[in-house]
Amino acid sequence: MPTKLTRRDFIRLCAGGAAAVSMTSLLAPVLTQAVEAGAPPVIWLQGASCTGCSVSLLNSVHPDIKKILLDVISLRYHPNISGAAGDLAMEEGIFKVAEEYKGKFYLVVEGAVPTGADGKFCMVGERDGHHITFLDLVQEVGGKAAAILNFGTCSAYGGIPATPPNPTKCKSVSEVVKNVPHINVPGCPPHPDWMVGTIAHVLLYNEIPELDRFGRPKMFFKDIIHDNCPRRQYFDNAIFAKNLSEPGCLLEVGCKGPIAHCDSTTRLWNGGTNWCIKSGAPCLACTEPQFPGWPMYTRLPEMPIAPGITATVDQIGVVLGAATAVGIAGHLAGNIATGRIGPKKHSDEKEGDN
Ligand code: SF4
Ligand code: SF4
Repeated sequence: MPTKLTRRDFIRLCAGGAAAVSMTSLLAPVLTQAVEAGAPPVIWLQGASCTGCSVSLLNSVHPDIKKILLDVISLRYHPNISGAAGDLAMEEGIFKVAEEYKGKFYLVVEGAVPTGADGKFCMVGERDGHHITFLDLVQEVGGKAAAILNFGTCSAYGGIPATPPNPTKCKSVSEVVKNVPHINVPGCPPHPDWMVGTIAHVLLYNEIPELDRFGRPKMFFKDIIHDNCPRRQYFDNAIFAKNLSEPGCLLEVGCKGPIAHCDSTTRLWNGGTNWCIKSGAPCLACTEPQFPGWPMYTRLPEMPIAPGITATVDQIGVVLGAATAVGIAGHLAGNIATGRIGPKKHSDEKEGDN
């Protein structure tokens, strides 16, 4: 192992990320050690995206993030910050590195993959005088990677580009590149710490971090927003804001916090300045595979939680606080089975009548 930082300490460092501490500055020294000791290179590709994930990363509070990316983590190609462009970038920065480090390098993908018209909706360069589609590029290069790190909800789950009617037939990367491990770091955009921490983990330990059922590193995505929300007291007391500027739980104005997994409540954004709900905006569940599947500023509809059973978000919220580690569906199904939520029983009605 190229670092003295144990895996356990690393996970603790990442999972306990505090608002005032930049993950990049904490990890830079150990990353430098790892790369000097021969950690594999990283290639970064962009498909159907708004570049917001890269902007989020470059917005990291560490002043030398570009230097960290290019020098420290041995990022061989990035569409926005690499000096090389055109054929040179394609051959030297992508294809040659992918071949030389076959099965060892890590591929970061930002953006969904347009598959309609044989991928022609997204051309990313030329090779031997022929256009290269992003679909072909990600399949060829991704197929040689040790693992693919899907940064942002678009590459992880399809996200906004794959939202119906999806005229370009966008797909997630894992739908078009099979037989390679995928790590999903969703978010629209993802927090810089989630991206830096995930790259650092694979480079330091040459191993995929522990993932949840949607392929997300648990060290960043195990918490449910609703459980740690500063407006939770309002929810528990049924005080709901009717407009975005009002105090109160934001459920009625579209908050998806009861189904959203991320650690924004403690990590905060923009160098510890603020985060989604604290700024008065509802959580949009941008880290979930369904994003942006529901209207953003309207209340969550009833959710299917088990065959033949649906629950309203109020019912979900009432019981989730006690069980963050348990899957929503399983937890709710259990609570329905024990009668904590679900249709009112005859005995309850009697109690209420007395
Ligand atoms: S519904 Fe949203 S605003 Fe309300 S308590 Fe839950 S996370 Fe907070
Ligand atoms: S709090 Fe909600 S909207 Fe904000 S980053 Fe987390 S999942 Fe996305």
